[in-house]
Amino acid sequence: MHDDVVLGIDLGGTHLRLGLVDRNYQISQFEIRKTRELLQCGQPVEQLVEAVRAYIADRLGDRMPSAVSIGFPSTVDRTRRIVISTPNIPGFDQQPVADLMEQALGVPVFVNRDVNFLMLHDLLAHGLEGQAVVLGFYVGTGFGNAVSLDGRLLTGKHGMAAELGHVPLFRVRERCGCGNEGCAETMASGLRLERIQQERFPDVPLDELFVRHASDPVLRQFVEDLSLPIATEINIFDPDCIILGGGILHMAGFPRDKLEAAIYQHARKPYPGLDYRIIYAAPSQESGVIGAGIYAFKRLQDPSYI
Ligand SMILES: [Zn+2]
Repeated sequence: MHDDVVLGIDLGGTHLRLGLVDRNYQISQFEIRKTRELLQCGQPVEQLVEAVRAYIADRLGDRMPSAVSIGFPSTVDRTRRIVISTPNIPGFDQQPVADLMEQALGVPVFVNRDVNFLMLHDLLAHGLEGQAVVLGFYVGTGFGNAVSLDGRLLTGKHGMAAELGHVPLFRVRERCGCGNEGCAETMASGLRLERIQQERFPDVPLDELFVRHASDPVLRQFVEDLSLPIATEINIFDPDCIILGGGILHMAGFPRDKLEAAIYQHARKPYPGLDYRIIYAAPSQESGVIGAGIYAFKRLQDPSYI
């Protein structure tokens, strides 16, 4: 057993990121691999176990990390043992992933929603753990959301709290990956932006969309649509601070001023509209892995923490 490090994993639809995280939340041995190459077909839990074994053998030799902590792009049950629904990676749904991997690896295994790990990282990075209400909005391929109340992540009765990407938008009928119609994520996400690019700007590379066409009405509407779920949650929670992150908000030329103005426009006045801090999460491949490490140390220290 290696008491000083845990293995943090951020499992995405495209990339699997791994790293060792120590008690000071410093990361080492960071590695990015293609999810599709690792989890080709059949038994993804077993394949993930093999990938973890190979990483540990390569990086730690015959030592083991004191825990393995994995962020899934999924809903995860309240006990944080079972992966419930993963639209973008087949084979994990309804699997008791934490128990299965624990039996195979012989060390504690923790699982949680990937956005919760981003939130844990960002709370620490920006000194926000003591704040009463912090809301995290992560706009990548989908629309991720996490809520921290007095430094604890909101879980809900079934572990399904903070699924803001799946609140319905008025009169939207688009089918969402979750199976419902009209979810915010169908309008406010990287997936939506890709569709806009394919339909309206097929000759423009996606990463140049805002640099070249930020004032186009379609992209202005996209930014307005992004603001709706964010302002909705601000009006429910009256937060101290909101964290804005995810690849879309870091695209070159993305009009952050327009997004902030649209959020403010929809926020209730005078408060919370006039008094919430906005923090942009720094773009980093490592944040989710470090967050996974933070979560593992919290769980090892306090078994009641979920
Ligand atoms: Zn949905």
